[in-house]
Amino acid sequence: EAKKAGRGTSRIFKPQMNESLRHYLQTCDDLRLALEREELELHYQPQVSLHNSEVIGVEALLRWNHPQRGLLQPGTFIGVAEESGLIAPIGRWVLQEACRQGAAWHRAGWSQLRMAVNLSAVQFRHGQLGPELLETLAESGFNPKRLELELTESTLLHSDSAILATVAQWQAKGIELSIDDFGTGYSSLSYLKRLNVDKLKIDRSFIANLREDEQDRTIVRAIIQIAQSMGIKTIAEGIEDPLVVEQLRAMGCDKVQGFWYSKPLPAGQFEQWFKHYTARAA
Ligand code: C2E
Ligand code: MG
Ligand code: MG
Ligand code: MG
Repeated sequence: EAKKAGRGTSRIFKPQMNESLRHYLQTCDDLRLALEREELELHYQPQVSLHNSEVIGVEALLRWNHPQRGLLQPGTFIGVAEESGLIAPIGRWVLQEACRQGAAWHRAGWSQLRMAVNLSAVQFRHGQLGPELLETLAESGFNPKRLELELTESTLLHSDSAILATVAQWQAKGIELSIDDFGTGYSSLSYLKRLNVDKLKIDRSFIANLREDEQDRTIVRAIIQIAQSMGIKTIAEGIEDPLVVEQLRAMGCDKVQGFWYSKPLPAGQFEQWFKHYTARAA
């Protein structure tokens, strides 16, 4: 009966329910209302070219401004959203909001700015993600050639031919496909064969100790070489150290993203950061 509890009604919490289950169910209830209460927001983190040090795009990262618990990171609620199916409407909102904001930035003069959006495997199992995304692009006027979709290896692990067909259809419109957290998943290299991948995002776990760890350097160098020989771009995530930027540049990595440049910021703050960065570089 707790499952059937509709919107606006509160669940009956029995004393014998353990704390974590209560917390989970409460989060589900709150998340269901989060969309209509407009508590979700996107923060944007810059992606910087190592060829000319310009900001070439942003990654949109979801945040939940919870009325009691404050600003929540996706790690605290994406899992709940996926298990409850709420990721479908939430993911739809993320795509709409990212395209709306991206189109506004293009109109404001940053016409080359790319927008990267994360997709979860579960989103593909609900509704009509393929046509929905194309509709969102048409409605917002956002140029599909500036859109990148980030899928993790675990998403691709469960990918059936329908998912692959949807992705191929998007790519035909100019949308790019990035593999997120590359190197941490199962059988990473097989995806490079099965899919027409545009970009690899080298996982933060290989980047964090790049200065000291010879093994990490060997792995990262190998990933970049494989990517280059297949015509795939690379971006390293989790850059916190300017010396790592130089190491990656020397290895031939194309782009970087990390706290060294900026944490993910709300749109208005990102605009300030961007203007400041561009002025400093000029
Ligand atoms: P991700 O796509 O790999 O995103 C990168 C994560 O690394 C972000 O965490 C970002 O804040 C963090 N990060 C960036 N630079 C640094 C750095 O220099 N150091 C460290 N320590 N961390 C850095 P965030 O925003 O908490 O997101 C976590 C994950 O949640 C994302 O990982 C992504 O898998 C998922 N996620 C975020 N937004 C969405 C969304 O809209 N939809 C879906 N399905 N998943 C999302
Ligand atoms: Mg990502
Ligand atoms: Mg990642
Ligand atoms: Mg990650």
